[in-house]
Amino acid sequence: MTVRAGKTTTHRAPRASAPRPEALPVEAVIFDLGDTLLDEGKGWFSDEPLLPGVRRALGELDPQYRLAVLSNTRAATRSDISVELDRLGIGRHFRAIVTSTDIGWRKPHPLAFEAALAALQSTAGTCVMVGNELDADVAGAKAMGMRTVHFRWSPRYRLDPSSEEERATVTIEEFDEVPVAIERARGEPSPPRTAVIREESLFREGLEEKEEEKHAV
Ligand SMILES: [Mg+2]
Repeated sequence: MTVRAGKTTTHRAPRASAPRPEALPVEAVIFDLGDTLLDEGKGWFSDEPLLPGVRRALGELDPQYRLAVLSNTRAATRSDISVELDRLGIGRHFRAIVTSTDIGWRKPHPLAFEAALAALQSTAGTCVMVGNELDADVAGAKAMGMRTVHFRWSPRYRLDPSSEEERATVTIEEFDEVPVAIERARGEPSPPRTAVIREESLFREGLEEKEEEKHAV
């Protein structure tokens, strides 16, 4: 595997006088689906709907980490996605597939990430999120206290962070850099959890997010 110079950017925490927090081990990796594993510009039934490097990288990561998919879907359920990933030959790599259609919460809502972490029997501090969307995937997972890998490539989505909250632990531009990115994230401390679930707004937020279909698969 080759990682070209300048293609991978690591955002390190600023130097501080306080001792650097220790990096927790990484035991699980959660992947977004659309424009992370699957090319949204092609769709499921094209000759090769998976992005280049996905098969090889998943094969490399599978023996080392528990892997899951967490997707904001319009109507597709866990079982629909599972059938398709099996058909493409990568379903066996995932211990869990979590969709917003099944759980009723969409990334970046904390309960979407909670559902995926629970399905993997993992914790935010020992899990890395890999995704292409700065708001839903990076900011959402970072607020949970997860280390993040931003897969920065899709012309369909914003490429650069608009705030510190959207700044990923590691940024890559090709999927085959994911194993190296996870390796780098392992050396970084997990961000502090900032996500707050406001009890009084749970019902209203759920309804609004279900109506939003822009990130649908
Ligand atoms: Mg996506």
